[in-house]
Amino acid sequence: MKLAAALLLLPLGIARAQPPTPESVLGHKPGDDFYLASYDESLGYFQKLAKATDKLKLVQVGKTTQGRDWYIAVISAAKNLAALDKYKDTARRLALVKGLTDAQARELAHNGKVIVHIDGGLHATEVAHAQHTIQLAYNLVTGADAETAAILDNVILLLWFSINPDGQNMVVNWYRANVGTPFEVSNLPGLYQEYIGHDNNRDGYMNNMIESQVITRANLEFYPQVFYNHHQTAPFPARIWIPPFGDPVSLNPHPLMYRWVNVFGTAMAAYLDEHDMPGAMHRGRFDDWYPGFVDHVNNFRNTVSFLTETALYRFATPHFYTTDEFPQDKRDLRTEVFYSSPWRGGWWRLGDAVRYMLGSSMAVLDTAAKNREELQYDRYRAGRDVVARFTKDPPYAYIIPRAQRDPNTAAILAEKLIIDGIEMHQATRDLTADGATYKEGDWVVLMDQPFAALVKELFDVQKYPELPHPPPVTAAGGRGGGAASPPATPAATPAATPAVTAGGRGAAGGGRGAAAGGRGTPAAAGGQAPPAQLPYDVTGWTLPIQMGVETVAVSQPVSDATRRQLRKIERADPIQGKVEGSGPVFAFSHNSNASLIAVNDILAAGGTVSFAKTEPTIYATGHADLLRKSGVNASSLKEAPDAWPVKKPRIALYEPWMGVIDEGWTRWILEQYRFPFTRVHNPDIQAGHLREHYDTLVIAEMGTRQIMDGMAPGSVPGQYAGGIGETGAQALRDFVTQGGTLVTLGNATLFAMDEFSLPLTNVVAGLPQSQFFCSGSLLRTEIKEPNHPAVAGLPATPAVMFERNPVFDTKPAFRGKVLAAYLKDRNPLISGFLLGAETIQGKAAALDANYGSGHIIMLAFRPQWRGQAHGTYKFLFNALYYNQAMAQEAPAREGGRGGGNPQQSAWRREAESVKTDLSKLVDQNRAYFTARGPAAAEPGKSLESALDAFQRDRLPQLDDLRAQVEDAAAARRFAAYSAQLKKFAVDLRTKDFSASKLDDLLEQYKLAVIP
Ligand SMILES: [Zn+2]
Repeated sequence: MKLAAALLLLPLGIARAQPPTPESVLGHKPGDDFYLASYDESLGYFQKLAKATDKLKLVQVGKTTQGRDWYIAVISAAKNLAALDKYKDTARRLALVKGLTDAQARELAHNGKVIVHIDGGLHATEVAHAQHTIQLAYNLVTGADAETAAILDNVILLLWFSINPDGQNMVVNWYRANVGTPFEVSNLPGLYQEYIGHDNNRDGYMNNMIESQVITRANLEFYPQVFYNHHQTAPFPARIWIPPFGDPVSLNPHPLMYRWVNVFGTAMAAYLDEHDMPGAMHRGRFDDWYPGFVDHVNNFRNTVSFLTETALYRFATPHFYTTDEFPQDKRDLRTEVFYSSPWRGGWWRLGDAVRYMLGSSMAVLDTAAKNREELQYDRYRAGRDVVARFTKDPPYAYIIPRAQRDPNTAAILAEKLIIDGIEMHQATRDLTADGATYKEGDWVVLMDQPFAALVKELFDVQKYPELPHPPPVTAAGGRGGGAASPPATPAATPAATPAVTAGGRGAAGGGRGAAAGGRGTPAAAGGQAPPAQLPYDVTGWTLPIQMGVETVAVSQPVSDATRRQLRKIERADPIQGKVEGSGPVFAFSHNSNASLIAVNDILAAGGTVSFAKTEPTIYATGHADLLRKSGVNASSLKEAPDAWPVKKPRIALYEPWMGVIDEGWTRWILEQYRFPFTRVHNPDIQAGHLREHYDTLVIAEMGTRQIMDGMAPGSVPGQYAGGIGETGAQALRDFVTQGGTLVTLGNATLFAMDEFSLPLTNVVAGLPQSQFFCSGSLLRTEIKEPNHPAVAGLPATPAVMFERNPVFDTKPAFRGKVLAAYLKDRNPLISGFLLGAETIQGKAAALDANYGSGHIIMLAFRPQWRGQAHGTYKFLFNALYYNQAMAQEAPAREGGRGGGNPQQSAWRREAESVKTDLSKLVDQNRAYFTARGPAAAEPGKSLESALDAFQRDRLPQLDDLRAQVEDAAAARRFAAYSAQLKKFAVDLRTKDFSASKLDDLLEQYKLAVIP
């Protein structure tokens, strides 16, 4: 039957029209000077092409953030497309491994096709890739040569003509409006992805954005073996930057991924030289360390994934380069091992970039075709090996307990993993097995699954490797590059935004690559050798720590009996709230982020809300249904105790014209948590009278110069030039003087310090990278004012994301409060890399500065970083509600540790006191083990009796106090701490610690931080 239908269709196939050339539909050849096709036009062309060939079919993969229909082209020989479902199934079975023997996998690979993803890029101001996809499709469906035939026969190409359709349209519209005017190469104002601009290439594992979700979903539907993501721009004067990449790389992917990436890169270089396209460069310092890049995340799912960066001037405008514009060490045009065909300068046009991209894409397709079977089999092999790795070695599983201080966020973490293609289970009843306790409803990740490397990578604590000094690398660009890379622009300078570089500290960055450029800072600034190869992006991201979610690594194999008590789930349902009684007042915990959704919904519905003054408790009238819906557990009270009333805040969010990524993230998070807000631009601020309209004004991570000066006059059309200037700064001072709350995040705290003349010092200002360096790491802070409303619901020692931010010390004239400080008595680094810890220990991370009758909340880290740092969202959320009335009453009580109730505080006080005993015990251990012969008898006896007393009296006391703690999550943490204390006590009796430092021991025994 099927055969007959296929035969019937044949005559129609023959009758098809000739595939139209791009120029016949678009009026231009892709790559023409001064011309860019929009996404809509590109789609129009692909629709016509699909009608005229049986080698290409369009598939809708979803919708974009702005609601556009999003299509990809699937390109292969007609007979392969006719059997697409069969080949998808083969790819899926090989990727998921389960139930296959090696022989069966071999057979599948022998009969299957290699599936390759190639895309038109997601950084929309890098324009060439979305043009090259149009030409690539036409060339493939019309090519009559043997190379094309072999590709179509062996490869199924998933051609994404753009992976940021909204952005492509924005940029094309902008360029068209300016081409031929003095602003032809001006920056696009605003972000080229609705919320996060350039960070759309940093959302790979988190999938916060709709676009990321669509791409991930397609990867889990088609299971491509190869993923190729195009970017611009190359390190000047290279014409294209390709794999092999620089070190360091992530530790967890299967080694074959990097091997194949190198094969593809080397094949590309040869192909380009064979086709008279010199100037391909490998290596350099753009690394694969952060797992959130849209390509790299797929290496953890055993898809061979990589990007390239092709040279770019600006948009579709050509440019002529002479060698004397080249960096000094490239002017002699000498042959290098990783740059063996140096580019000699001359014209560089959009058409050249398109040609190079066509070459590199064809090289990838050609290499995939020639290795069809091996690439398929290696995806199976990698999955099989990962399963074997976690069958043999721990962690055998991770548990995400349901009882947490913020259970709703734990559910979000579980859901994120499922979106990432991780198989997730839930315990169907309480059970203790193999050294771990599972409670009914706990989420369980069994690690013997093919993509487990991703879980390991996200849950591990990162230790950025100390590498030797990197080889000298020239110029800017790299991962994510920028819209523009004029010659000899040092990477530290966001070239496209000359007005905003003075901030220096890698300031925030615009949507145009400034952020990435800033992070590509070359090592040897100021002639000072750096301590290690500097990271390209962040160094530590440990997701459970960022999200404030507790997870348990299971160190014993999970038995079949335990597995039978687990249920596989397809999604992690959001937690439903349990509401006891019928009010009229409901009390619920401030600890979960979801409680703030409830607060916003209740305020919007006209209810009243108040925050308890010394407990992490929120009171609200009525609206039990809203509480339930937000996933909040509440109990009923007759009346609300004395508490701080919370008003529906009138929030303004400052939005500079240049497009600041963190502003977009902030906007997205405010929407997610249903905070109402108004976007304000420079003229709105300069107009003053802000206090009449707003209670709170938020400035996200950005530099002082960005805020004050914006984009340089003359560089962009007049209405977008400039910042808030002195007029705007005065309007902000008036706003706070009149009782408003200004909330500043990250480096915007420096704007507050400078423009409000706050008596503070930034203790890391001006320090060379050889003395202080921390580019994206998780650091431990300590809450200093546990009863301050701005820190309500936060744990006692929150982990914060620190990314080249200031650290403050207060001068005597400072009026206000230090809300949180970096740990004083030990290195605050948790995950990533921190050089110069002692400089910031004990110094302020968050402050409430009094100013006039208002307040400035300064959060000098990244409280909502990339929509990942759920654990510190409340720093921001609380600040949004914070007002004068609360401040006047905020007690200056000292000594508490916050984040708990009296029972928990009592336990912590006792634990502190027990911890101080340890120092004495270690001294006694040292005395005993350093003594020789008979002289050891005395110290031996006193160590014995001290330990006897410690174990007999001190430890049980702690256990007694713990028994009174009701909160299950807190009790569990306390129990874990006590268990470590017991272990340490046992070892102190028998092990020689005379060569160890107390701090190291506390660290080693996980006793340094009291939970
Ligand atoms: Zn890019």
